[in-house]
This record gives sequence, structure tokens and C-alpha cells, in this order.
Amino acid sequence: MTGRGLPAFIDPFRLAAAGGRLNGRLPLAIMRRLGEALLDQSGEVRVALQFDRHQDCHGQVVGQVEARVRMRCQRCLRPAELELLVPVSLGVVRSESEAERLPHELEPLLVGDDRYRLSDLVEDELLLALPVVPMHSENATECVPGTMEFKSEGATESGAADTERPFDVLAALKKQQ
Ligand SMILES: [Zn+2]
Repeated sequence: MTGRGLPAFIDPFRLAAAGGRLNGRLPLAIMRRLGEALLDQSGEVRVALQFDRHQDCHGQVVGQVEARVRMRCQRCLRPAELELLVPVSLGVVRSESEAERLPHELEPLLVGDDRYRLSDLVEDELLLALPVVPMHSENATECVPGTMEFKSEGATESGAADTERPFDVLAALKKQQ
């Protein structure tokens, strides 16, 4: 029911013991928490994960998740398409104390029982990779601040179209001191 070639739930312990591999796609539409940060939830996430045994935990999960998402550019306030390519490096653990024993290259994947929703794993990785301040790339032709009707004042802070603005900001800073 989730996506092509991928199960909705996985057993990370069994996958690690068997050296299992997951390859496929998940729809962005099923990831509600991620959806709150995006302009829309069309499209898919490409998932490639390799499970293996690991001496310090119940198994390691290594690979990548990849998605093209749309967020609002904080420079021009227009939609910006962002390519997320997230390397995954997880160690399967049962508890916080097990998590503390992981080597630093592995992030903990805390698994309570033998069922783990695969989309939760993928969604968590994507959420961590989202930019705090999404923006078009520096030379994107569609990114032109000052040519839109701004909905909030903060959006003109690049100052390119308004030379007085930086001094206003300085004055405001001095008042605060
Ligand atoms: Zn922009």
C-alpha cells in the first residue's frame, strides 16, 4: 500500500541478520510531518538501503534517500525546488543506553519491537536534511527579490532594492543596546 517495491513495515533485526537490501520509491504524500514544511507533497522519495550485521548494535542501515521537494524561497518568496540527497548511516538499537554505545558514524535507529514503519525512517532522514532557511541557489534566474508583493516586512532584508533599509536595521540595533 505504500510504494513500489517497498514494504510498509520492516523488521530491522531480521533484515540486518539476512543482509537485506531495500530499493524502491515511497510517495511524499504519506509523510505528514514532512508535508508541513513543504509547499506540496507531490512526487516520490527514492530509497536505497543496505542492512548488515554490526558488532556494536543489532545491525547497521547504510544507503541514501533522495527526493525533489518544493519549499518557499526565503529570499524571493517564490517556490524553490530543492534536491535532497541524504546519506543514511544508522545503527539499530533497542534502548538509549545501547544508542550511547554506537560508534560515532552511526546514528541510532531506536526500534521498540520487530516492526518499524519504513516511511517513518525515511521521513526522519528527510526532515533532518531540510534546510532551515530554504533558498534558490545563488545564480537562479527566477530568484529576484523585490519584484514580488511581499507579505511580510522581513522579506526585503537583502537590501538590494532598498538602500535605506540597512541603516534602519542598524538604528534599531543601537536602540536595543
Ligand atoms: Zn528565490
